[in-house]
Amino acid sequence: MRKPQIVLLVIVIICFLSACEQSETNSDANFAVFQNESSKSQTIDYPETSQEKDYTTENSESTVTNQFTQKDESIQIDIPTQPSKPIDSNNSINDNNDNDKNFVEELVGINKLRVDYNLGTCRNLSGNVSVILFFMDDFESGWTADEITNFTNNEVTPGLAFLEKEAKSYGVELDLSIKQSYSSIFYDDEVILSIKETGLATIDVLSQAAHGLNYSSDEEMIADFKSQYGTEIVCFTIFNKNGTAYAINPTRGATMQIEEHCIIFAYDLNSNRNDPIGSQSSIIAHEMLHLFGAEDFYATTNRKNLAKKYYPADIMLGANYYIITNNIGNATAFYIGWTDEVPDVLYNENW
Ligand SMILES: [Zn+2]
Repeated sequence: MRKPQIVLLVIVIICFLSACEQSETNSDANFAVFQNESSKSQTIDYPETSQEKDYTTENSESTVTNQFTQKDESIQIDIPTQPSKPIDSNNSINDNNDNDKNFVEELVGINKLRVDYNLGTCRNLSGNVSVILFFMDDFESGWTADEITNFTNNEVTPGLAFLEKEAKSYGVELDLSIKQSYSSIFYDDEVILSIKETGLATIDVLSQAAHGLNYSSDEEMIADFKSQYGTEIVCFTIFNKNGTAYAINPTRGATMQIEEHCIIFAYDLNSNRNDPIGSQSSIIAHEMLHLFGAEDFYATTNRKNLAKKYYPADIMLGANYYIITNNIGNATAFYIGWTDEVPDVLYNENW
C-alpha cells in the first residue's frame, strides 16, 4: 500500500466539524465491509427535482433541544513547506486559470471583509448548482446500493433543501440538483479520519475519483461537468465509515490549485451509529458553505462568543442533529455573497 497522500495545510483551509461527544465505542467494531472488487464505476442519474419534505411537523423544538450537538472544533495549520499533492501528468496547475488570477486579485471594498468569498472552483451559490456525489469505497468500507439511496435521501437531500430554503429567505434563487451519483470508486489509500488528531488531511480523494472515471485529473473532471451542465459544480466524496467531515478549499493567495470539494463520512468520528436519521445533513450543508466562502464561527473564542449572542442557530456556529433547528444568519449570508450588506457585528473588534 502506498503512503497516504496527505498534506500539511499550507494553502488549504481544512475545516471540519468534529463529532459530538458520544459514548466511547470501538470505531472498528461495526465496520461493514462491502469492498467492491470491480474498479469500474457506475453512475446513477437522479431526477432533476428532489421531493419536497415538510420538516415542520417532524420534531417539535422542545423535544430536540437536548439533542443538539455542538460540533465545534476547528483547526488550521500553516506550515511553510510545499504540500505533497501530486501533480497530474498533464499538470493541474494552469497559469491561465482564472482561479490563479483571482488569488492575487486585490480585495476592495466590502470584499476585504470576506476574504474567502469568490475563490477556487466554487464561486456563486445561486441559480442552478449541480451536485456530484462520489460514494467511495476503501480498504475498510464500502457502500451497498440501499445505503447509497438512504444516505442520499436522508442526509444529502435535506442538507441541500436547507440551503435552498435559506437562500430564498435572502431573496436568492438557488436550485441544487444532484446530477450524478457515482459509486464503486475505490480509494486506494488510507483515509485520515480525524484531522484533529493528526493535523493532516487526505486531499487526493477527488483526484482518485476522477481517475476512477477515466479523467486525467479532478480539474479536468470538474471542467467537464461544468461544460456538461453549465452550472457551478459541487463535489462530495463520501465514505461509509466514521470520521470527521471537512471541506477542502483554497485560501486567498494560494499558488497551488485545489479543486474544491467536501469529504463526508456517513457517521461522526465517535458515533456509535445510533444518531438520528438526517443528522449528517447539517454537516453536509456546513461543509458545502465553506466552498463558497463561509467562515466558521467557532474558530476563535471571541468570534464564538459573539456568534452565540448574534447567531446562536447559525449553521457555521454549530451543525445540529436536526438541520431544521439551524439557520443561516446575515453574516454567513454576507460571506457567501447572498447579500452585500455588511452586518454590524463584522465591525466589532472581537469578531
Ligand atoms: Zn467549518
